[in-house]
Amino acid sequence: MNRVYIKTYGCQMNERDSDAVAAMLRGKGYSLVDNEFDADVVLLNTCSVRDQAEQKAIGKAGHLAKRKRKDPNFILGIMGCMAQNRGDELVDKLPDLDLVVGTQKFHRVPEHLDSMIATLQGQGPRPDTIVDLAEELDSQNTIKSHVDDKLQVTAFVSIMQGCNMKCSYCIVPKTRGAERARPMDEIVKEIKELAAKGTREVTLLGQIVNQYGIREFPFVDKKSPFVQLLEKVHEIEGIERIRFTSPHPVGFKDDLIECYGRLPKLCEYLHFPMQSGSDRILKAMRRPYSIEKFRSIIKKMRAVRPDMYISTDVIVGFPGETEEDFELTRKHFEEIGFDMAYLFKYSVRPDTTAEPLGDPVTKEQKEERNQILLEILGKRSLERNQALVGTVEEVLFEGPAKKGENMFLGRTRGNRVVLVKASPRLVGQFAPVKFERATASTLFGELVLEGVEAQSA
Ligand code: SAM
Ligand code: SF4
Repeated sequence: MNRVYIKTYGCQMNERDSDAVAAMLRGKGYSLVDNEFDADVVLLNTCSVRDQAEQKAIGKAGHLAKRKRKDPNFILGIMGCMAQNRGDELVDKLPDLDLVVGTQKFHRVPEHLDSMIATLQGQGPRPDTIVDLAEELDSQNTIKSHVDDKLQVTAFVSIMQGCNMKCSYCIVPKTRGAERARPMDEIVKEIKELAAKGTREVTLLGQIVNQYGIREFPFVDKKSPFVQLLEKVHEIEGIERIRFTSPHPVGFKDDLIECYGRLPKLCEYLHFPMQSGSDRILKAMRRPYSIEKFRSIIKKMRAVRPDMYISTDVIVGFPGETEEDFELTRKHFEEIGFDMAYLFKYSVRPDTTAEPLGDPVTKEQKEERNQILLEILGKRSLERNQALVGTVEEVLFEGPAKKGENMFLGRTRGNRVVLVKASPRLVGQFAPVKFERATASTLFGELVLEGVEAQSA
């Protein structure tokens, strides 16, 4: 009864939390499997950012719950943001659930599973659903030891939890609680352990990473705690690439911009959420910057690193978004030239300040606006990739590609996905690749070092 499958919905933060739970479970003797059919326990790590994400997970849980009628020992749990957001309501809706674990309680999953399995094996009555959603002081420090023996070429490292902003559309402050920073030394220790086990690239995670530790730690030499952390991570031997997500224009100051000129491990890739190109909508969203301020930061970044790749988040169809507002979003989106973007259709979220505004922009309008941005993105992304054809760049190989014999997936420093025919020995290694052809999402290339090719034959 110890085979566990974790299915993750949503963002990198959720991926990271799932990895942490998996590592804790492995440490306790559970085995992690890669599909629900081979599992005795299925845990859904959920997302609440949009209603659609919640409905998907609820549908999946309903489907899995049917299995319990045939297999009474099967265990089903929901963790993460939707557990936090919906709580007991989930148990009313899905009475077959065994576990409902909130965002500050991931570290308790192994103990809850142990006790549930012990009761089932003791042939006692089936225990009631365990619902564990309370806030926990210092919970940001509880799931740090997720480094296990599985090779993670690239790793997400959570440097903080929660969010203190009040963007009017966003449920995250409700599901993730107030902003709490992890101590710098613990983060550095975790990354050193990752490096010792083969990790070459880290992505530092937080809802507003550049606000890291702003209340907990002092500025030193006019450098923010986040910049101090970047410097410390930069010193770690074995880590060759550093990324972070997501920064916010608020607090994106010159001390951070100039890091790109002096910390070579900091990749020329920035995920920088714009949300809207209309100041009127940004204000209604409670995003405390103007589009000009947003663009001025990008301009400064490109002055320091002209080859910077920039991605963003945009919400289309926020309540009150007129054609004129959207035209501003379209214009700035095109002029800035994003290389990648997550485009979201606005979804009303409970208990947010925008909730009372309803959802007046129609589904069709949202779809149309989304398509317009997608087209711009596709064109720009293809142009940027095509410009790389014929050039050579260093690629970090992450693992086998989903399709294709002997095909392996890697990324450039600019976060472009690269597919190359190679050998498994290249996983975890850097190698120069000459790009031969490009689509909007992928570069296809060939290894250029004879030595590496010979080794991989
Ligand atoms: N903290 C990050 C920031 O401030 O940019 C964003 C984190 S949020 C989990 C990821 C993205 O989801 C947001 O940038 C936003 O574009 C999108 N999002 C959040 N709430 C949404 C909603 N109610 N409807 C549609 N998209 C939403
Ligand atoms: Fe949500 Fe805004 Fe916080 Fe990002 S900064 S998590 S969008 S409230």
